[in-house]
Amino acid sequence: MPSQPPSLRGGPQRKAWTSPNRLKPTPRKRGRAGQRDRAQVIAEEPLCRECLKHGRPTATAIVDHIKPLAWGGSDERSNKQGLCVPCHDAKSKAEREIDRQNR
Ligand SMILES: [Zn+2]
Repeated sequence: MPSQPPSLRGGPQRKAWTSPNRLKPTPRKRGRAGQRDRAQVIAEEPLCRECLKHGRPTATAIVDHIKPLAWGGSDERSNKQGLCVPCHDAKSKAEREIDRQNR
């Protein structure tokens, strides 16, 4: 006679908890998840990354994808940076220019 019913075999098994912020799928997050990510990047990079390179401390206004999603960039934190509006505009303009040339 079996010591325990087969349905309970193995006992309780739990998967290790993984934060929903890790290993997220590639598509851009929208709604609340996207807003939370933006807030996190701004909290971590309160100053525009590009301006800091030039010694100008300027407040971050926009969370930018370093490699644009349209170019296959990921929506991961490592592909995001804080930029001010002028730096983001300049980068977007340069990206549009590259897009145009590659068309
Ligand atoms: Zn800037």
